[in-house]
Amino acid sequence: MGAIGPANVVYTWFESMNYSTILFDLDHTLFDTERSEAQAFRQALSAAGISNADGHISTYQGINTALWSRVERGEITPQQVRTLRFEGLVEALDLDADPMHLADEFVAGLGANGDLYAGAQEVLKALSELHTLAIITNGLGEVQWPRIKRLEIGHFFDAVVISAEVGTAKPGTDIFDLVFAALDHPPKESVLMVGDSLSSDIQGGTNYGIATCWYNPHGKEAGPNDQITYEIGDLQELHSLTVASR
Ligand SMILES: [Mg+2]
Repeated sequence: MGAIGPANVVYTWFESMNYSTILFDLDHTLFDTERSEAQAFRQALSAAGISNADGHISTYQGINTALWSRVERGEITPQQVRTLRFEGLVEALDLDADPMHLADEFVAGLGANGDLYAGAQEVLKALSELHTLAIITNGLGEVQWPRIKRLEIGHFFDAVVISAEVGTAKPGTDIFDLVFAALDHPPKESVLMVGDSLSSDIQGGTNYGIATCWYNPHGKEAGPNDQITYEIGDLQELHSLTVASR
């Protein structure tokens, strides 16, 4: 380590590696949510006798994203998103369908479809051998648990906290309190939050006073007020970032 550079650089390097606990977002970070959504959306609309699902999905995505932003602001609960997004879709596209039925089909499809990003499983396996891992997700239990079970990744995590089950969401601090309690209160300086969302993951980690790692595979621009400790374009970088400390 002493060969890396001046003393201040070595100190920064040492500090940056000293995370014993890593909190992961799930959607769009470990899990290919886009593909899962597209498949579930096609199935749900097809079950309701609606064609051209691919032509409607961008409308759905706009409605869904706006609703999750409202969850982040504490205006609605995660559970409300389940049906509201299809009420919005039926209204926006003037579809002849029952929003509740679409919502039921869709959440079943979200749980049943999609995969981890390539390489994510290997990264989790390697990290789990040296660190405590947990999931903290703004999502629905009836979607996330079937995914976690189907993908057989549950054993990597010492805690899985799902916003709809606990009634509170990122970037609020209550959901972080819950995951910290489940992990027996690790020191905040030993915990790193990894996720793709600036508004929920990075802001949430910042609000809670822990280090953050922005998973940014598409090279988006951060805003001037985003406090990002690390930025990675590939989950593999997490592996080298942490293993180098040993
Ligand atoms: Mg995400």
